[in-house]
Amino acid sequence: MAKLMAYDEVVKRYDPVLGLEVHVELGTETKMFDAAQNAAGGEPNTRLQPVSVGLPGSLPVANMKAVEYAIKIGLALNCTIAKSCRFARKNYFYPDLAKAYQISQFDEPIAADGYLDVELEDGETFRVLIERAHMEEDAGKNTHVGGAEGRIHGADYSLVDYNRAGVPLVEIVTRPIEGAGERAPEVAAAYVRALRDIFVAIGVSEARMERGNVRADVNVSLREGADAPFGTRTETKNVNSFRAIERTVRYEMRRQAQVLASGETVTQETRHWHEDTSTTSSGRVKSDADDYRYFPEPDLVPVAPSREWVEQLRESLPELPIARRRRLREEYGYSTEEMRDVVNAGALDLIEASVVAGATPAAARKWWMGELSRYAKENECALIDVPATPAQVAELSGLVDEGKLNDKLARQVLEGVLAGEGDPRSVMDKRGLEIVRDDSVLEAAVDEAMAAHPDVVEKLRAGKMKAIGALIGPIMKATRGQADAAAAREMIISKL
Ligand code: ADP
Ligand code: MG
Repeated sequence: MAKLMAYDEVVKRYDPVLGLEVHVELGTETKMFDAAQNAAGGEPNTRLQPVSVGLPGSLPVANMKAVEYAIKIGLALNCTIAKSCRFARKNYFYPDLAKAYQISQFDEPIAADGYLDVELEDGETFRVLIERAHMEEDAGKNTHVGGAEGRIHGADYSLVDYNRAGVPLVEIVTRPIEGAGERAPEVAAAYVRALRDIFVAIGVSEARMERGNVRADVNVSLREGADAPFGTRTETKNVNSFRAIERTVRYEMRRQAQVLASGETVTQETRHWHEDTSTTSSGRVKSDADDYRYFPEPDLVPVAPSREWVEQLRESLPELPIARRRRLREEYGYSTEEMRDVVNAGALDLIEASVVAGATPAAARKWWMGELSRYAKENECALIDVPATPAQVAELSGLVDEGKLNDKLARQVLEGVLAGEGDPRSVMDKRGLEIVRDDSVLEAAVDEAMAAHPDVVEKLRAGKMKAIGALIGPIMKATRGQADAAAAREMIISKL
C-alpha cells in the first residue's frame, strides 16, 4: 500500500489544485442520436436502435431535448452558449463502444466560460470557474466475470449490455480550481453536490448518485506554493458519491505529497477509487487528446441554437438552489447551521410546503427535523416517504398556535397521524387530546390537588410561590396532560 503523509503536514507543505469533470445523464425520453428508449435497467440489449450499436448504414440525429437540457445546464452555470457548435468523434476501441468512436464535442462545446458559486459547510461561498460544458453519448456497460473487483484484467469472460450506449450526457469541466487549500476535499464534494442540486432543480436529470446518473473524474495535483507552476495531476475516474469524492481528493493529496517529499515524481495517469479500502490505485497512463484523433463528426450538422431560443430557455429557468436557500433562510429566520442541517436532511422542500400550507417556519422545522426525522430514521425511509404530509404538519402547527394543543399533546397527535389515524384535528378529537378549556373540569382538578397537598398550600399562602409546581404536576396528571398550565396557575392563585 502507498505511503501517505499526514494531512496536516500536506497542507503545510503543498498547495492542491483540483479539476473536476462531471458527467450527468440527461433524463430525456430517448437517446442522444436515435429513438431508442432512454431508461435505466431493462433486459440487457433491449433498449437499442441501430445507431446505439453502430450498425452499418445507420445515421445519427441529434436529440433536440438533449440540446435544450445542455443549454439549460450551461445557462445555470453562467456560461456563454455557442452560436454554433459541432460534434466530434473521439476514437478508441472498447467493447462497450460498438462504433469504436464516441460522439462528443471537442473544440466547439455548446457552453463555455461560466462559474458556480458553491456554499461550504460554514456558509462561506467558493467560486468554481467552469471551462466548458459539452454534449456527448454514454457508452454501454461491460461486466467482467471471474476477475478481481470486476476488472477486465484477469477476467474469464466479459458481457456487454448496450442499453446505456447512446444515453445523452453533458460533461462539465472546471478550470483548475486553485486556492481551496486545506478545504480542497470539501470544495470538491460541495461543488458536485451543488451541480447535482442544479440538475434536479432545472429538471434535466434525476441525478441519482447511487445509480451513476452523476459521475465525477477527480483531477488532483500538488505544487510547492500558490505561485508555483502546476504539478503533475492524476485523474481518478468515475467517483460517484460525495463522500468518495471528498476522500479521493484527501487520499491523493496525502499520497502525492509523500511521493514528492521523497524526491520522486507523480506519474500522470488515471486512477481508480476503491470504496472498500478507501484508496486509489493506478489505472492506465493518461492518453493525450491527440491519441483520440478527434475530428468533426461528418454525419451531424452543426448545432446552432437561435438567440431567441436561448433567451427563452434562460427565462424558463427556475430560481436556482443557492439563491432559493438564501432567500428562504432570510424569510424563515434560520441560522446558517439550521439551514445547512435542513438541506442535508432533505427537508427543505417539505418545510417550504408546510409553510405554504400555513405552518410557522419554526414549527415546520421543529417537526420535520425532530419527530419526523426520527421516524424516518427508525423506519429506514426517506423523509419524503414518512406518512405525514406538509398539510398535516401545518394543521398541527395551527392547533398549537390556537392553544388547543401543547407540545406534549401535539406529539401524541402526531403519533396518531403517523399511525394512520387521520389528520391532526380528527386524531385530536378521536383521542380526546384537546387542552381542557372546561373550567369545571379544571376547577375539580385544582380543588383536588389543593386538598391533597395542604402543606404546599401553606407555603403558597406564606408567599413561597415557587412551590406552585408541586400542584401543577398532580393537576396535569388528573387531566391526562390536557390542562392549560397557565390557566391552572391563575385558578390556584385566585383560590388562595
Ligand atoms: P483530460 O482530457 O485529460 O481529462 P481535461 O482538460 O478534459 O483533460 O480535464 C482536466 C481537468 O483537470 C480540468 O478540470 C482541468 O481544469 C484540470 N486540470 C488541468 N491541469 C491540472 C493540474 N495540473 N492539476 C489539477 N487539475 C488540473
Ligand atoms: Mg476529460
